[in-house]
Amino acid sequence: MTTIASALTSVKRRIAAAAEAAHRSPDDIQLLAVSKTWPAAAVAEAARTGQRAFGESYLQEALDKIEALRALALEWHFIGPIQRNKTRPIAENFAWAHSVDRLNIAQRLNDARPPALPPLNVCLQVNVSGEATKSGVDPETLPALARAVAALPRLTLRGLMTIPRPAAGAAQRAPFQQLRQLRESLMRQGFSLDTLSMGMSSDLDAAVAEGATIVRVGTAIFGARQREDNQRIDNGSTP
Ligand SMILES: *Cc1c(COP(=O)(O)O)cnc(C)c1O
Repeated sequence: MTTIASALTSVKRRIAAAAEAAHRSPDDIQLLAVSKTWPAAAVAEAARTGQRAFGESYLQEALDKIEALRALALEWHFIGPIQRNKTRPIAENFAWAHSVDRLNIAQRLNDARPPALPPLNVCLQVNVSGEATKSGVDPETLPALARAVAALPRLTLRGLMTIPRPAAGAAQRAPFQQLRQLRESLMRQGFSLDTLSMGMSSDLDAAVAEGATIVRVGTAIFGARQREDNQRIDNGSTP
């Protein structure tokens, strides 16, 4: 087995163990392999093990990989900050966008989604307490944004996403619990949301315990990124 293949196996074991501990079915948790900064060859290697869903944060790099790997028919998820002038290529090339936090971005994605494709699956990124970045909608504004996004015909509002500030031990669970409760609250208001996109290499176990349905895992699959992840810097935050 290659390094990536065996890492994928251990990540799946971790997900299964966390699911079992939470009395959940591992089948209800999708593994999104976060391949940002890694070359197409690494994605292809993961794909050979059967991994289909890949997450990317940097648009140009992602578009190059999508083009290079088109024959594999993979499912691409955009998980990075979405700039206004990048909405069209995202709408044209991705199956999911996890990081929608403003109506104007959602409208632009909706307007640019090609009619030949199914609606773009969307998660609203929420700034729960302890969020590492300044991006994400505030919990108080979330219901109004959800209502407006759900009305856009070329988007399917699937659920909520968050990126908590790194924490250790039991403290990891609080932001995930908050996201779960926000989803429950929206569902009581009539939204049908099947997705909680939460949990990364260092905290996926806590996220699964709190109900994650998609975990976004990079480092634990591909190794430590050579290039620094700029996401927090891009968002202009001071953690
Ligand atoms: C990079 C990234 C991940 C993966 O993080 P790891 O710690 O490498 O698992 C998950 N989600 C988002 C939004 C990211 O930018």
